[in-house]
Amino acid sequence: MSAIYRVQALSLKKTKLGESDLIVTFLAEDGCQVRAVAKGARKTKSRFGSRVEPFTVVDLMLARGRSLDIVTEAQCVATHDALRGDLDRMSAASVVVDFLDKISVECQTEERLFALSTTTLDVMELAEVEDLRALVVAFLVKGMAMHGYRPQLTSCAGCAASIRNGDFTLFSMSSGGVVCADCAGADTSTVRVSADVPDVLNALLGARMADVGALGIPDRLLRDSLTLLRTFISYHVPMRMKALDMYGGGVL
Ligand SMILES: [Zn+2]
Repeated sequence: MSAIYRVQALSLKKTKLGESDLIVTFLAEDGCQVRAVAKGARKTKSRFGSRVEPFTVVDLMLARGRSLDIVTEAQCVATHDALRGDLDRMSAASVVVDFLDKISVECQTEERLFALSTTTLDVMELAEVEDLRALVVAFLVKGMAMHGYRPQLTSCAGCAASIRNGDFTLFSMSSGGVVCADCAGADTSTVRVSADVPDVLNALLGARMADVGALGIPDRLLRDSLTLLRTFISYHVPMRMKALDMYGGGVL
């Protein structure tokens, strides 16, 4: 294993280290999490400071260290500046990087995750503000699917029976999808959702990020879908996602 290696990565989070250094958490292009030290990154004349800001996609040269690797070079690929200039975009993009920070781990590859994440941020930069919530919901349901929790949305997650159409559908957190009344039984992780919510999530799972806005999903259904996903994610991912908790303020 070479002592120096190159990787393209998305910056997720920075943490202060000592007087002038940063520890930066990245999602690498293979889907693994990389934490590395950017020495002197908090000094005004630092070569790295602005290049390792969260939301930035960067070409890194890293030197292997004993515990954390060291950033030796950083070249911006995409700064995603527009995400920092506007509170709505910033909140939406923060949900993306916080989710990635909590689900990604060292040495666990998931190659589709990096492409999904950088594409989501690219689209969020240019999207209409009213489409941001749909993009957040689409990213979260796709991200959970890549993380091994693809919700079952078209037939019962317990017995595979087709779900009768009514006003409401039962969704089981533990079974990971819609369930019939028999399978819901005594499952205390089951919640009742509007019957349209599984269809919304299914449509978003199948859509390209660039096409999500054009689906024209009503805001009421996006809010219900987001509420369901929050519960689903907190059931399966043990770490609290502050940006997701706060997303949409007190409106939801
Ligand atoms: Zn069933």
